[in-house]
Order: sequence, then C-alpha cells, then structure tokens
Amino acid sequence: MLMPKRWRDRTTVRAVHDDDIENLLRDLGIFDDVLEGKLTCDVCDEQVTLAKVGAIFVRDGVVRIACTNEDCCAVAFAQKGR
Ligand SMILES: [Zn+2]
Repeated sequence: MLMPKRWRDRTTVRAVHDDDIENLLRDLGIFDDVLEGKLTCDVCDEQVTLAKVGAIFVRDGVVRIACTNEDCCAVAFAQKGR
C-alpha cells in the first residue's frame, strides 16, 4: 500500500480524536479498510472498527493501528521515536 510521502518516514503516534479520525484514515488510504473490518490491532490482533481505533502509528514504513484498549495504546505510544 502506498501512503502519502509525508507519512512514510515518520514514526509518529497519533492519538485519535473522533472528529479527525475519518480524515486521518482517508489521508492514509486505510479508511475503507477500517470500514470493511480488514485491519487488526497491531498489538492484540483484534479487529479494529472505526469506533475502536485508539492510535495510529507508523513503523517500518507501514501504517499500523492500535485499538482503544489501554494496553494497546500504551504499546503504540511506546513506539514513538524508534
Ligand atoms: Zn489491541
């Protein structure tokens, strides 16, 4: 999957707020995947629906999402700066 270049080199953790999650997911080109239930939490492998996206981050040039589970968000945020 190609992502916008400005995302590619980042290892950014983004806490998701309801208002901008849709735009953010669209920006990353994964909105449809989330809607269709294709994505899973990078930490616990649970299916992540739109309402359950807790954090979005990039690792190894791949956009990953974590569910709203506290532990998963904690792991996602721990990726920062790596
Ligand atoms: Zn999770």
